[in-house]
Amino acid sequence: MWGPVLDLHGWITQQIDAAEQHALDHQRDPSDALRWCKAHRKILTTHAPAGGGGSDAYACEGCGYNGADYCPELNVEHVNDCPTLLALAEGYGLTKEQRAALDRPEPERPAPTGPSLIPAALAEAMYGHLLATVVGVQPVPSPRQRALEILGPELKKISGYLPSPSSE
Ligand SMILES: [Zn+2]
Repeated sequence: MWGPVLDLHGWITQQIDAAEQHALDHQRDPSDALRWCKAHRKILTTHAPAGGGGSDAYACEGCGYNGADYCPELNVEHVNDCPTLLALAEGYGLTKEQRAALDRPEPERPAPTGPSLIPAALAEAMYGHLLATVVGVQPVPSPRQRALEILGPELKKISGYLPSPSSE
């Protein structure tokens, strides 16, 4: 069947829709089938991606949390791996091949180029202090410090040049 690639949750939703339509179109009394469809939709409502844009946005909310109270983690990291949904999908005839071809949306990772919350100069100073205190070694000068050491005398010849306090 051609169409958008669905994740496990979407695939089951599609099967339930089709089963419901089939029951309405072809069964003299579709009430049993419709009741099953309704029950399955309730399972889908419970076992759904946690959402929220965090790193666990696609974790299964319905499978619950584990771990310590101060740092709970969702038990099933991706809703495609939810055992309840996989059992339901098995009932709708999901094959191994179909499962492998399912979409697996992942949360967007924060861009690694974002500015640090700690200003670079402060981080550098903290790092140097840490090295000197804990390890007992003097930090290797940063490329900026090295450049200022080398270029400093030349820069001071330029009128209007004001060396920054940290470079002295
Ligand atoms: Zn689940």
